[in-house]
Amino acid sequence: MQLVTLNDGKVIPQLGFGVFKVDPAETERIVSDALELGYRHIDTAAIYRNEEGVGRALAASAIPRDELFITTKLWNDRHGDADRAIEESLEKLGLDRVDLYLVHWPAPRQDRFIEAWHSLEGIRERGLATSIGVSNFAKHYLERLLPEATVTPAVNQIELHPYYQQRETTELAVAHGIKIEAWGPLGQGKYPLLELPEIMAPAAAHGKSPAQVVLRWHLQLGHIVFPKTVSRDRMVENFDVFDFELTDDEVAAITALERGGRVSEHPDDFD
Ligand code: NDP
Repeated sequence: MQLVTLNDGKVIPQLGFGVFKVDPAETERIVSDALELGYRHIDTAAIYRNEEGVGRALAASAIPRDELFITTKLWNDRHGDADRAIEESLEKLGLDRVDLYLVHWPAPRQDRFIEAWHSLEGIRERGLATSIGVSNFAKHYLERLLPEATVTPAVNQIELHPYYQQRETTELAVAHGIKIEAWGPLGQGKYPLLELPEIMAPAAAHGKSPAQVVLRWHLQLGHIVFPKTVSRDRMVENFDVFDFELTDDEVAAITALERGGRVSEHPDDFD
C-alpha cells in the first residue's frame, strides 16, 4: 500500500474504503470483507449512522490498531458541541482515538465552523484524534479558516472526479500542505464516467478496468481515495491498482475532462 505523509508527520494509506450509504445493518459484514481483502483505511462519519458496524468489524478483526487508519466526521448540527460528538463517535467505533477527525461541512448558515475547528484542535491535543482536517471546504472557506487556525488542517476531503476537479480549492490546499481526499472518486456512478473513451482506451491498453483507471488517475495526482462498494468483487478490483501506471498523456486526457460537473451538494447551499 502506498502511504501519504500528512503535514503533521502522520501517514495515511492513500487508498481506503468509504462507507457512505452502506446500510448500518450490513456494515459489519461489508467492512469485515474489506479488511480481509487488505483495506486498512476506513472512512465513515457520524451522519452515516454506521460507526457501530465499522467498530464491530474492527473489533472482530485481529488487525493491530496501529495498522488501521480510521476517519470519522463531525456532523453539521454539532459544530458547537464537538467535544461530546467525538466521544459519541469513539464509543460507537469502540476506539479510544480516531486517526483522522474532520469537520464534515462548513455549514455557512450556522457560521460556526471556526469554533468547530478550535474544538478539533483541542481534541487533537487530548489525543482523541491523531490528525484533524476539514471536508467540503471550498477555497473561500479555507481562506477564512487558515488565518484563524493554530493547527493547519491535514486534509480537505472534497468532491473530486474527472468532471469536477475543484482546481482553485486544490491549489490553495496544496500551497498550505493540505492533502486532498477525493470523495466520490468514481463520480458516485452518477454519470457515464466509466464509458468515456478517455477512460476506456487506457483501460484496454493496460488490461485494467475503467474504474481502476479512474482510481489510478487519482493516485497519480496525489489524491487520497476511498471508493465505496458493497460488492466483494469490486472491493478486489478497486484495491488492485498498484501494478500499472498511466502515461502522462493518459493522465492529461482524463484531467482535460473537467466540465464543472458536480454530482452532489455545493457547500454554500448545504447546512
Ligand atoms: P464513489 O465515487 O466511491 O462511488 C460509489 C458508487 O460506485 C457506488 O454506486 C458503487 O456501487 C459504484 N462502484 C464502486 N466500485 C465500482 C467499480 N469498480 N465499478 C463500477 N462501479 C463501482 O462515491 P462515494 O460517494 O461513495 O465516495 C466514496 C467515499 O467518500 C464515501 O463512501 C465516503 O466515505 C466519502 N464521501 C464523503 C463525503 C463528504 O461530504 N465528506 C460525501 C460523499 C462521500 P456498488 O456499491 O453497488 O458497487
